[in-house]
Amino acid sequence: MKKVQPQLSGKTAVYAVLGDPVEHSLSPVFQNEAFRAAGIDACYVPMRVAAKDLSAAITGLSHTSLKGFNATVPLKEALVPLCTKLTDEARLIGAVNTVELDGGKIVGHNTDGRGFLESLKEETKFQPRGKKACVVGSGGAARAIICALTKAGVREIVICNRTPAKGKQLASDLAHKLHGMKLGSSSLRMGELSRAFEGVSLVVQATPVGLEGRGLIPLPWGVIPKGTLVADIVYQPQLTPLLSEAKRRGLPTLGGVGMLVHQGALSFEIWTGKKPDLKRMRQVVEHALANS
Ligand code: NAP
Repeated sequence: MKKVQPQLSGKTAVYAVLGDPVEHSLSPVFQNEAFRAAGIDACYVPMRVAAKDLSAAITGLSHTSLKGFNATVPLKEALVPLCTKLTDEARLIGAVNTVELDGGKIVGHNTDGRGFLESLKEETKFQPRGKKACVVGSGGAARAIICALTKAGVREIVICNRTPAKGKQLASDLAHKLHGMKLGSSSLRMGELSRAFEGVSLVVQATPVGLEGRGLIPLPWGVIPKGTLVADIVYQPQLTPLLSEAKRRGLPTLGGVGMLVHQGALSFEIWTGKKPDLKRMRQVVEHALANS
């Protein structure tokens, strides 16, 4: 596959991804390809920013010609108070993954939840309306997905978390904000999980467990109904231990690459007003994953 080599000039628009670490990020791979495919004179670069330096970095960057950036772990939540404006979605989620910089304005968006929904729509037959979902994890990604599933009409969500107090806190926090949603929480202990998973139609794994093929959250497979969709937002490897186990049990699965590409495509649209070439974006991500 051709390597991305943008022709840079003084007119080239610059975008970035901020994180710590950031070296592993695939965003430069697919955003540069999206700019190239759209014929836009722009480039996208990784920038390592430590959490303690975020405020100084944002002040500095907002005084440059940088057009916008994505944020990854551990900066998404810390960005919220640093933005001059937040979308309703970013405020509700309490995390920002996409920023538009415009004449000193720092506008915070969150595209993670919609990215997950777009991937669900594109790659599965799952219809969220009226269904019950169990989300494993209570971090920024879980929060974004819970908000998106609520918007898509899911009836009930149980947050299953290693630290039960954090899951319970998130459920009670969101119950106030997501009117009408039935929200519960559970620890990862098997007895409690078995009760939480009764009648589930969608399972979303939103923790780093399974990254690089390491680790598997034990699920109460015996109570998970036939046909339940098992989604894992970890995308390295594409077939995580959880997805492999779900497939072995004959359950439909959804990997994390689609969410990654769609959340990035939504950022691209926010910055440029144009829809990127999703197919090309996905191709370069899959190529990079296969060669990493
Ligand atoms: P985060 O805010 O750090 O949340 C971490 C969550 O994972 C917490 O609920 C934590 O539980 C749980 N956790 C961590 N290690 C665990 C373990 N060994 N066993 C059980 N639970 C564990 O992270 P995040 O931003 O939500 O991201 C979570 C994962 O999703 C990351 O791997 C990230 O790369 C991936 N992600 C993928 C996409 C995509 O586009 N596909 C987008 C965003 C994120 P405690 O509360 O007990 O600590």
